[in-house]
Amino acid sequence: MKNNFESSPLKKFKAFVNNLQSRTQESKYRNKSIDIGYDKNFGINIYIDGVNIAIDHLNPNADIIFVSHAHMDHIPNIPEEISKDLENKESQPKYLCSKITKEIAKVRSRGKFNLPESSWLLGRDKNYPQSVDYNGISLTLLENGHTYGSLSLFIEGSEKILYTSDFITEDRALLNGQRVIKGLKPIKCDRLIMECTFGAPNFIFPRSQEIQKDLNEHIEKEISKGHPVILLGYAFGKSQIILNTLSSSHRILLDKNIAKLTKILENQGIIFNKWEPYRNYNKKQLINFNDYILLIPPYYMFNDPYKSLITTGAKIIYLSGKVLNESFRREFPADKYIPFSDHCDFNELEKFVENCNPEKIYLEHGKIEEFSYFLYRQQYVNTEIFALN
Ligand SMILES: [Zn+2]
Ligand SMILES: [Zn+2]
Repeated sequence: MKNNFESSPLKKFKAFVNNLQSRTQESKYRNKSIDIGYDKNFGINIYIDGVNIAIDHLNPNADIIFVSHAHMDHIPNIPEEISKDLENKESQPKYLCSKITKEIAKVRSRGKFNLPESSWLLGRDKNYPQSVDYNGISLTLLENGHTYGSLSLFIEGSEKILYTSDFITEDRALLNGQRVIKGLKPIKCDRLIMECTFGAPNFIFPRSQEIQKDLNEHIEKEISKGHPVILLGYAFGKSQIILNTLSSSHRILLDKNIAKLTKILENQGIIFNKWEPYRNYNKKQLINFNDYILLIPPYYMFNDPYKSLITTGAKIIYLSGKVLNESFRREFPADKYIPFSDHCDFNELEKFVENCNPEKIYLEHGKIEEFSYFLYRQQYVNTEIFALN
């Protein structure tokens, strides 16, 4: 698709982009009641009413560490020695994260995510929202539908600040409607810190019900023609949500990484469709079967054993919001692409901003320039927009 901004007056666009401000922690935030910044060595930091909140990272000045979810780029590196140090420190930072994030992050970081049990301030409970008061501000954890255990943070002090992290707004009904993963609902706030991975107008995704129908119908069609199906999806979160989207009665197999993470979620009480680990079979056996559904992480398609299954007739379905990009499709040849995403599409982002109605917006991830330009044109001229990157 052609860039939608090509027809816009380019000069104006450039002038606007130059107005974007990247903030760093060097700003003298201690003189103000609120400062939001991005430090290249650490990440996003929110300072409000004397409390310093580190987002998805460990930072020596933090009072609070918020860990939004267990995707690799959001897991703070906290080796055991540091964790021990923190525990002995008189004013140890407190942390907020869900039990699922804690368990998955520990395994995915190969032990480099060790937060001392004594400083876990909020998130043990499985029900959300949940809040705590800390030194005069209130912190609330909210479900955001991005992945299992993922949370957004709502801060109330001298101002209201919402940090979305990666999120979706739609409630997704999985396991044929038996289980719902709740999306994030907009909240009126003074400052909104929002991801905009798909903040360009060419990223519009079908609703989750339609996607589920499309996926299941396509699988049945292929299997009825004698073709087994391989589904490509990110190992944590996406794969498990796909697993719980399948309505098929055929054999469902999981690659060993996906199986390991699914097991952890099962131990946390999440119910999944019936599945088996791929290792229950060998390549030769599977080449003779023509009715299985196999979930693997995308890059694994280029290597054996999965490569052999593909060259002997298995059909590939790639599930990601990125499939709407032609260059991405060239990188990952597949028989079918489904824009099945764990992020908001362009319309959801727009609606979200409108309903939160903030005075200041801070954007992170992805299409920051395109989305800020869009906001600028949509009567958000008086809203201050910052890029956090
Ligand atoms: Zn994520
Ligand atoms: Zn992310």
